[in-house]
Amino acid sequence: MRIFRSLLSLVLVLVTTVLVSCSSPTQAKVPTVYTPEKIASLQVYVEPIETARAKMDTLKQLIQSGNWVDTRTFIHGPLGELRQDMTIFSRKLLPKDQEIAQNLAKELFGHFERIDAAAKDRNTSLAQSQYIDALTDFDAFLGLVPRATENS
Ligand code: ZN
Repeated sequence: MRIFRSLLSLVLVLVTTVLVSCSSPTQAKVPTVYTPEKIASLQVYVEPIETARAKMDTLKQLIQSGNWVDTRTFIHGPLGELRQDMTIFSRKLLPKDQEIAQNLAKELFGHFERIDAAAKDRNTSLAQSQYIDALTDFDAFLGLVPRATENS
């Protein structure tokens, strides 16, 4: 009877081990959707980017008025930290969106560099066309920000 009991408990241990190992997935799943918790946690990283987006009108006015010194100062000053903010934010996105976000940020800063060069040359038309391209890439980047679905 004692032997039977210890055998029984051994069998139970084996059964439990098999059940546990079967129920735990061997591969970690790559998330493909943004959970409401994830969306909420991203907000803190989105804020400085949206603040910078709101400042883009100032840049437009500086270019339009041919204020080249301030245009260059603005790109390196108020918009200077944007690159870092976008990089940090990109890394928080789902794997499928990370590369797209990083490419758009790279595009955007390419336009900023060309606005900077245009300002140096006092080239209004180039600065203006680069500004429009910058805005397009900026908005495409913000389009990657996951939004909570509205139920109202
Ligand atoms: Zn572009």
